[in-house]
Amino acid sequence: MITMNNVEKWYGAFHALHDINMSVHKGEKIVLCGPSGSGKSTLIRCINHLETYQKGEIRVGGILLGNQSKAIDAIRREVGMVFQQFNLFPHLTVLQNCMLAPMRALGLGKAEAEERARSLLGRVKILEQANKYPLQLSGGQQQRVAIARALCMRPKIMLFDEPTSALDPEMVKEVLDTMISLAEEGMTMICVTHEMGFARQVADRVIFMASGAVVEEAPPAEFFTNP
Ligand code: ADP
Ligand code: ADP
Repeated sequence: MITMNNVEKWYGAFHALHDINMSVHKGEKIVLCGPSGSGKSTLIRCINHLETYQKGEIRVGGILLGNQSKAIDAIRREVGMVFQQFNLFPHLTVLQNCMLAPMRALGLGKAEAEERARSLLGRVKILEQANKYPLQLSGGQQQRVAIARALCMRPKIMLFDEPTSALDPEMVKEVLDTMISLAEEGMTMICVTHEMGFARQVADRVIFMASGAVVEEAPPAEFFTNP
């Protein structure tokens, strides 16, 4: 689903990614961890072209990620993303937040977009909040809306960038449970997270980054027993 070959990225003079090579198969769950500033966020943002990179190549579902806007649009349809900050539109209701991209980017009619949005809001157990505005919801609820919104594009891959880091502890579980159920349904996922219990339970591989490079990669059982 995703291959990265010899990817290098600089922010100006700062070398943010060093020779990244990675392949992610259909249905695989990757947990990306490592200290703050090690390049985790940069790496996953390169996958859907929220960041550009200077060398190497990234393919998503066979599409070569160049700078052509057509390829970028195609990839953004395949790849859903959830951020630490929920990034919901505050002036739109929960339902409207979920309907927007399918209508704009996929050209779905209003009725069809609404049906899809309601079904996914149901799946993340938040349908009863559909007509509220994001700021009327708890952080955990907002994050579940953000997950539903991404799923409304029917992505083949989901990227999560510290989805629980901005949440109060009591809300972390509801978001992790949503992610676990998505994993169980076979979604291909890359998750940047410090939640090691989640990594143990869900990850096929844990990838550890430091200073912009991948320094260790192993199945969780192996990863967590290494000295
Ligand atoms: P992580 O997600 O592991 O915390 P990031 O990918 O956010 O790490 O950042 C990696 C490094 O790149 C950090 O040193 C950060 O300061 C730097 N960085 C991130 N974004 C930018 C940017 N837009 N301009 C310059 N440096 C950046
Ligand atoms: P996160 O913790 O979610 O990765 P950050 O707080 O690291 O986010 O970064 C927020 C924004 O600031 C991002 O767009 C990132 O690219 C940018 N950024 C991060 N570090 C730097 C930096 N050293 N110089 C310029 N921009 C940066």
